[in-house]
Amino acid sequence: MSKENDLLASVSDTSTESEFFLPVPAGYKKGKSRYCFVMGTVMSGLGKGIFSSCLAKLMQDKGLKVAPIKLEGYLNIDSGTLNPFRHGEVFVLDDGMECDMDLGTYERMLNQDLSRANFVTSGQIFSSILHKERHGDYLGRDVQMIPHVTGEVKLKLRRLAAETEADIVFVEIGGTVGDLENAYYIEAMRELAYEEGPNSCCFVALTYILEPKTLGEQKSKAAQLGIKQLMQCGIQPDIIACRAANPVSEKVRQKISVYSNVPFERVISLPDSASIYMIPAMLRDAGLDFEVLRLLKIEDRINLRHERKAWASWCDFTDKIGSRSRQITIGITGKYTSVRDSYASIINALEHAGIALASETEIKWIETTAITDENAAEHLADVDGIIVPGGFGTRGAQGKIACIKYARENNLPYLGLCFGFQMAVIEFARNVCGLPEANSTEVEPDCPEPVIDILPEQKKIEGLGGNMRLGGRDIELKSQTLAWKLFARTDSVRMRFRHRYEVDPRYIEVLEKAGLVFSGKAPNQPIMHILEIPSHPYFCGTQAHPCLTSRPLKPQPMFVGLVAAAMQKRYPGEKLPDPVKAARKVCNRND
Ligand code: GLN
Repeated sequence: MSKENDLLASVSDTSTESEFFLPVPAGYKKGKSRYCFVMGTVMSGLGKGIFSSCLAKLMQDKGLKVAPIKLEGYLNIDSGTLNPFRHGEVFVLDDGMECDMDLGTYERMLNQDLSRANFVTSGQIFSSILHKERHGDYLGRDVQMIPHVTGEVKLKLRRLAAETEADIVFVEIGGTVGDLENAYYIEAMRELAYEEGPNSCCFVALTYILEPKTLGEQKSKAAQLGIKQLMQCGIQPDIIACRAANPVSEKVRQKISVYSNVPFERVISLPDSASIYMIPAMLRDAGLDFEVLRLLKIEDRINLRHERKAWASWCDFTDKIGSRSRQITIGITGKYTSVRDSYASIINALEHAGIALASETEIKWIETTAITDENAAEHLADVDGIIVPGGFGTRGAQGKIACIKYARENNLPYLGLCFGFQMAVIEFARNVCGLPEANSTEVEPDCPEPVIDILPEQKKIEGLGGNMRLGGRDIELKSQTLAWKLFARTDSVRMRFRHRYEVDPRYIEVLEKAGLVFSGKAPNQPIMHILEIPSHPYFCGTQAHPCLTSRPLKPQPMFVGLVAAAMQKRYPGEKLPDPVKAARKVCNRND
């Protein structure tokens, strides 16, 4: 492109004289990164994050560098204070960012750690603008939605591009086209495509094809109207992905194609899939990977040898999904038992471990408010292992402790995650150490034996937004313990945290004397991170959230251990690997 036609080159970035307002980060190389925008029409919940991560995976397999980013419409600065019941789980990144669960999907699909640069909310955008305004950065100008707010959005995208040097930045826009709160994101995308020039951007519209039972056929009108709305925003989609319960008929695809100016082969059918891990193959079969490469004119950047290898190992994994010969049941106690999204990472981590060990895992959700020491056996009679996951507050805590007691006394495999770790400490203190009044000050603020108490460093911070110990931390492992063996006999592992409370160091000695082993702790600090009971077939817990770092091709060792122990319990006559051997077999790969 000639210099005169190149907006980015010819306009000084934030000039107050010009109507062009183009803040471009230092080091930004135009054309290096291309952009793929994924937007939803008709309704939310179409799986934009899943689609975008699967498409990004196909590009990554081809040796391209990809950087996903999610743009959220809400005004919160992060997802930390959102109720998982309404929004799904809060996913925590290594740098401590609390974000939308879609970031978990990206990390798992791409086997790549993300950071706060990959997550944007309207709250962040407006907070940054208001900060700049007070700082005098816009002196002499009225601050407007266009160009300043859209400019801030473009700046975030270009900054990510410059920092990662990605070949393709995958931009997922939260919500549905037509929502007031994401309208300025969509406008920013339109502007970005105009500024970056032809072949720099590819627009994908995800839509939904209705199939009313009373009619018995697929109807395309809602999809057409949704796409029309997008076109009214000045955006011509390049690809339309039609989500539907069943494969989308040719007739419906043709109708949408004619109506939207999108070539028929780029209107693809994406029916429901039993496993999200089968979706990359669906997109590949539809030829979408090469369509995107052609649209962005980066066919010359790909490495087919890299792709052959990456695709072969992915197919090894997906082949195992359908050929699992054993079945186990894991009980998960949980407050948000009706919403699977609030435990998405745990479900995924169990699935990764199960696929690696050729076992299908059924999950039994256990509501603990009515569970007592007396009836715990009934509730847990049909499970082969139990997880007490993360949680906040008091509801059901007593029932969780009763479940843990049952697991400890009856050799039922147990994995406690964060709150589940804390409850295991309380149970042990009460029933083994003879401290019947042991509790957490979160559950009982004035309890006489606060074995779990608020972290001294967190006490100083006021308010509920932003006072947790968050993000990745190194954990020092004690030699010869179960944890040390599960983690391939390494001295240190890294896991992610999100908590306010911890084991009160004053109780460590009494707990350890009675047989509880703290096998992982913070380096140079008395913060206990992993516990285990050596005399039990598999009883462990961690203050961290190991589920956040489980990946399809790299299952997390503590989950592999649980699944292996549950399989041994379910199939006692068979010679199955114990937790440590199982972890060695499937986790300790050097790739
Ligand atoms: N509520 C507990 C704490 O704040 C546990 C947190 C969690 O499970 N994520 O420490």
